[in-house]
Amino acid sequence: MVNGRFSAVKEAFQRESVMAVSPAKETSSYYGCSVFNRETMRKYLSSETRGVVYESIERGATLDKSVAEHVAAGMKRWAMDMGATHYTHWFQPLTGGTAEKHDSFAEPHKHGTSLEEFSGSRLCQQEPDASSFPSGGLRNTFEARGYTAWDPSSPAFILGDCLCIPTVFISYTGDALDYKTPLMRSVSAAKEAASDILKYFGMGDTEVCSYLGWEQEYFLVDSALYAQRPDLILSDRTLLGHDSARNQQLDDHYFGSIPPRVMEFMRDLEFEGYKLGIPLKTRHNEVAPNQFEIAPVFEDMNLAVDHNLLLMSIMRSVADRHRFKVLFHEKPFKGINGSGKHCNWSLGTADGIGLLSPGKTDEENLRFLAFMANVLKAVYDNNGLLKASISSSSNAHRLGANEAPPAIISSFLGMQVTAAFEELLSTKDMVKIKDKTGYSIGIPQIPELLVDNTDRNRTSPFAFTGNRFEFRAVGASANCASPMTVLNTVVAYQLKQFKKAVDRRTAAGDPVMKAVLDETRETYRACKDICFDGNGYSEEWKAEAKRRGLDTETSVPVIFDRFTAAETVKIYKDTGVLSEIELRARNEVSWEHYSKKIDIESRVLSDLAYNHIIPVATRYQNILLDNVLKCKQLFSEKEFGQYSSQEVQQIKEMAGHIDEARLMADNMDKMCDDFSELEGREMAVAYHDRLVPYIEGIREHLDALEMIVDDQMWPLPKYRELLFIR
Ligand code: ADP
Ligand code: MG
Repeated sequence: MVNGRFSAVKEAFQRESVMAVSPAKETSSYYGCSVFNRETMRKYLSSETRGVVYESIERGATLDKSVAEHVAAGMKRWAMDMGATHYTHWFQPLTGGTAEKHDSFAEPHKHGTSLEEFSGSRLCQQEPDASSFPSGGLRNTFEARGYTAWDPSSPAFILGDCLCIPTVFISYTGDALDYKTPLMRSVSAAKEAASDILKYFGMGDTEVCSYLGWEQEYFLVDSALYAQRPDLILSDRTLLGHDSARNQQLDDHYFGSIPPRVMEFMRDLEFEGYKLGIPLKTRHNEVAPNQFEIAPVFEDMNLAVDHNLLLMSIMRSVADRHRFKVLFHEKPFKGINGSGKHCNWSLGTADGIGLLSPGKTDEENLRFLAFMANVLKAVYDNNGLLKASISSSSNAHRLGANEAPPAIISSFLGMQVTAAFEELLSTKDMVKIKDKTGYSIGIPQIPELLVDNTDRNRTSPFAFTGNRFEFRAVGASANCASPMTVLNTVVAYQLKQFKKAVDRRTAAGDPVMKAVLDETRETYRACKDICFDGNGYSEEWKAEAKRRGLDTETSVPVIFDRFTAAETVKIYKDTGVLSEIELRARNEVSWEHYSKKIDIESRVLSDLAYNHIIPVATRYQNILLDNVLKCKQLFSEKEFGQYSSQEVQQIKEMAGHIDEARLMADNMDKMCDDFSELEGREMAVAYHDRLVPYIEGIREHLDALEMIVDDQMWPLPKYRELLFIR
């Protein structure tokens, strides 16, 4: 009999490629066609309405009711022209993904007829039955309600037959229940604080934007094989599986030629992404087998986050069409690289001046150094909080492994910027430039940065890459809004402190540029311990980081404490991003989520041990036993000792692994039952400290059995089958 695994593998390998999607036309002819963008608005909204909407998008002005009615009418007509029959408020609850509840445009009318309707109030606000979304106690199920409210700055789009309207999700009392609300508040805080600094440079009216360019890594697995891995289906990662003899050791996958079946998936995905106006730019193979990356051009942060979530959701459906499953888990396979989502972050003006880009003049370079110093100080003061923003049960497997950033946040600046800062420390004053108004800051090498700033350090979690910082510690499955909110918030707060200090200096009589220069120098001096250009994987760095006072905690539930530390509460209150109540509620959600994830993993693993692996291993052990018994009958005692001792040894080894796995799974199950008495932080800490080691321990025994048991009998697809797409 051919066992299940074998037939599925064969089916997967023999399958012919699916659906060659080749959009006949050039990308520009359909780019953004499913988005209610400015071009579409020109067709469906009056110029007067458009003017108000643009104002709202650009300046955050509130739309009044009558304008909302006009927009809703235009949007409905467009959506119906596009074949949509339903609409939904599309939001980002604290579960991590996105949520949508579709309502039909059709409303019953007189005499058994119906009419398509969509009013301004439906566009602006909805009350989804949101009692099941996590709120951390902010919204008692039967009391306070949850509302979604339209975010005009992120354009509506059509997915399938549904008009999707990006919204924030807040409680009756106005508390944030989602990721978008604090993100938008943090973007405003950063804008305001950065604009205030620009006034020193005579750029008083300049609009500042916070930009994000993400790089999404992911794995693809054949659907037929995936369907036979309960661990992948239920816990998004393999909980057992022995190394494949070949994995990434030949370094032959990174930037290698993309397998044809995957290429078809990518083309189809890009086609769908372009229709939704996602500016996809880069695609390539990643380091591990079956691992890939897709990245767009950076955008305004709020939109970039929406686009990432949208892309992740279409990736799942497009993958289905190509009989793949896409894995966003940070460590789906043991022993090979996991997946991150580098978040390239910068501040810039709306008209294209990068505030983290060196300039051509002294004044521009002082501006560059001032913003850089402030970012570094914010990261230094809040390195533990930034780590909390990217911590999760799944990313914990990736951080600290020798492939991803270590679980200590530090920053890499590169040689030139470091040299510029060091020189700044030694310069006393600005030099007046002869015959010109203005000052020289006396750091001549900065303009060279423009030419060559390419040195890289892949172990750094927060690396400067020429005109932006690349936050590499972010996990592939995360909502970028979580780390980006923290980054905007702490930078906004730091810029405010900087402004106060500069103003104190000018009040004492310093010229403005001198005050900015001196304060930049002191800011950098106070935080230079965050800079580390060496090997982040080394043991020495762990000790050194501790000495420098950086956060070296590795327990995720404990790392979350940073969100409610007094300093964090102060910063979030000062910038208006989240109240203490909101911060506390979020931590409750994070702890609960952590415990649930580990609980699911432990249940899946124990099921796999009891119902899949142990029975099969026992059956194989029986075959060996049977053989040994027969040998004993047939062979002389001497021959038996000579020929069967290895086999007897193997039986004993199997018995040991089976017994240990069973015992540990038993204990683990009991522990889960005991933990159900606990709550919140205490529960998460218990799961982390006491249960996680069991998940690892049981796996070792099951993986050892995989190497002994007959391949034909093994009930799960193995790593070598899962990891090499044909
Ligand atoms: P790499 O893999 O070399 O780091 P990629 O080209 O894959 O680089 O991705 C870099 C990302 O950074 C892209 O999304 C790009 O648009 C984005 N990016 C470039 N400049 C900026 C900037 N000033 N601010 C934010 N993101 C940026
Ligand atoms: Mg990168």
